[in-house]
Amino acid sequence: MVATLDYIERKFNEFNHTIFEDSLKPLPFKLSCARSFLGQLRYRRRRGFWGKCKYDNFQLVISGRKEMSESLLEDTIIHEMIHYYILSNQLLDTSSHGKIFRKMMNDINTRFGRNLTISHKSTEAEREQDCEIRNHLICVSSFDDGRTGITIAAKTRAGILWKEIPKVPGVVECRWFLSRNPYFNRFRRSRSIKIYLADKAELERHLEDAVPLPDGLKIP
Ligand SMILES: [Zn+2]
Repeated sequence: MVATLDYIERKFNEFNHTIFEDSLKPLPFKLSCARSFLGQLRYRRRRGFWGKCKYDNFQLVISGRKEMSESLLEDTIIHEMIHYYILSNQLLDTSSHGKIFRKMMNDINTRFGRNLTISHKSTEAEREQDCEIRNHLICVSSFDDGRTGITIAAKTRAGILWKEIPKVPGVVECRWFLSRNPYFNRFRRSRSIKIYLADKAELERHLEDAVPLPDGLKIP
């Protein structure tokens, strides 16, 4: 079967009641057209006092493209709900599928006869684990047909990309930003002119706290 928003919501409510003792607050659900992951918990990560991270703005994303058995779909939702439980309670795990995650996962498997794993999530897991804070030099390009592209420049190549991306056929505008948002860790850094097509709204959301670089690549 393929997930629908109604199904996700129904299952979220069911598992919130049976497994999480109604402790999880409602959150937005989204269907993704990505084929690279089954489920993903999106969130904003903010560095607070003493460098301690705060997590908020959660969104539960499930692939709306992948054909899954019902039990795999359910397990995927529960898997993301464990992430949600840990992060919304601001618990500090040893890694994205660390000790707390594994303990909860094993408990749920035993008590509820589930088959939750972390292994079939490697792409998603890799992305999540990679929440290290680092600088990203981002070029957002607009095409004449309305599409939006993103390039994360390798620092040593930024000067060249700054000059060359505007010359790519179809590109009508380039905006550069500096961001430390770990969301951008998922994009491969470009040493050559490579533009990945991106969802404009999603991109803008993650660029909200980015620093625009209008006057060349002088990194503040
Ligand atoms: Zn995970």
